[in-house]
Amino acid sequence: MTESNFPQPPKHLSTEEFRQHGHALIDWIADYWDRVEDFRVVSDATPGSIREQLPTAAPEVGEPFEDLIRDLDDIVMPGITHWQHPSWFAFFPANASPPSVLAELVSAGLGVQGMLWSTSPAATEIESHVLDWLVDLLDLPAYWKTTEQGGGVLQMSASDSTHTALVVARHQATNRGVQPGSMVAYASTQTHSSIQKGATVAGYGHVRLIDVDGQQAMNIEALQSAVEEDKANGLSPVFVAASLGTTGTTGVDPIEAMGAICKEHDLWLHVDAAYAGNAMICPEFRHYQAGLELVDSYTFNPHKWLMVNFDCSVFYVADRGPLIDCLSILPPYLKNEASASGAVIDYRDWHVPLGRRFRALKLWWVIRSYGAEGLREMIRYHVALTQQLADRLDRDPRFEIVAPHPFALVCFRCTESDEATSRLIEAVNKVGSVAWTGSELDGRPMIRVSIGQRSTEQSHVDALWDLIDEHA
Ligand code: PLP
Repeated sequence: MTESNFPQPPKHLSTEEFRQHGHALIDWIADYWDRVEDFRVVSDATPGSIREQLPTAAPEVGEPFEDLIRDLDDIVMPGITHWQHPSWFAFFPANASPPSVLAELVSAGLGVQGMLWSTSPAATEIESHVLDWLVDLLDLPAYWKTTEQGGGVLQMSASDSTHTALVVARHQATNRGVQPGSMVAYASTQTHSSIQKGATVAGYGHVRLIDVDGQQAMNIEALQSAVEEDKANGLSPVFVAASLGTTGTTGVDPIEAMGAICKEHDLWLHVDAAYAGNAMICPEFRHYQAGLELVDSYTFNPHKWLMVNFDCSVFYVADRGPLIDCLSILPPYLKNEASASGAVIDYRDWHVPLGRRFRALKLWWVIRSYGAEGLREMIRYHVALTQQLADRLDRDPRFEIVAPHPFALVCFRCTESDEATSRLIEAVNKVGSVAWTGSELDGRPMIRVSIGQRSTEQSHVDALWDLIDEHA
């Protein structure tokens, strides 16, 4: 090949074109947030209706970028369920906020892999520092900081954090000669499915679901008996998961009492605070987390209620030694001077994936932009709206509240009959102006109303109440 016919470097969008389309897309997102109430909250797309608009084969030749943006409106939007709608009362919130979205954009633009300290020192150091901030902001045990013996790391989801905890506990038990097939993990019947899934993936032989009391909290005597019974039957209790805010009703397990049992039997205690952990930024909720000094690991999701868009799950360990011992494998291509010095954190050793993006930037920017006070204000506003709705439900004989509502979720059903509850769920869902979750408790239908979208105001909850009133 001569110099004259040597291939030219491929070119694509120029930075000038990127700037132009980027500005247009920031406008598009801002307009979306402004007009989100014009949409039906839950997409009414039928199965396959989005896919049938896509060509059968990928384009051989690049398309004008304007066409891509146009298809956002024409193809994507009809298939979007609007989690950013102020009348989003379903599941738990998944908030996006301006500082979070802008940080996400910067993180994508930098495109760094923070698997090792040396592959982008800022990604690691900001993550460690901000997670140490959160230890203080949430009043968690000070030794959970990376400057002490513990430490925090960002993961994609609470399911990943819980799975990691299960794997480390299994590793420790295996080192003591316990066979995975005999290992038992315990959680309440109200625990999130991620505990069971994580234990199954991690190879635990048994998962025991322990009954809850009338407050939806784990029955502590039942846990004690189950552990003793399993030991007597030759099994090996290894792991206990406490829920600080169950998904069904935000029930809170007795962490302190569970911790005492775990200490007695040398079990790993993990706390799943995926949703309610966010409320701990407000001192008035912290009595729910009494006993954290007995805990080995803890997870909560700023991507639910702390104005950081998905994905951003925090995982703390009280002692990072067992975590790193379990997950660190050093191939020759990852060896470097900084790691060898022992003076840096390499987050690849703190979870299953090797590659990791710069998630900490959005958490850092959200905390700096809102300030702790701004975040507390948001949480308290949602809790106040929820308690007001709960009061209305409580005063109305047509409804009964089915569980305590300490945070910003209230669960209720119709007193007339289960059929009336199911009818109400269906009637409100049909209207389409709000989203809520029809669920079950003790085998009977109930309705979950979760108030936590950042743009939800009193008028939206009033409108929900009007719908309930009209259709009950
Ligand atoms: N734990 C609890 C209590 C939850 O409510 C949820 C999700 O709502 C999860 C775990 C799972 O979270 P993720 O989707 O981050 O895995």
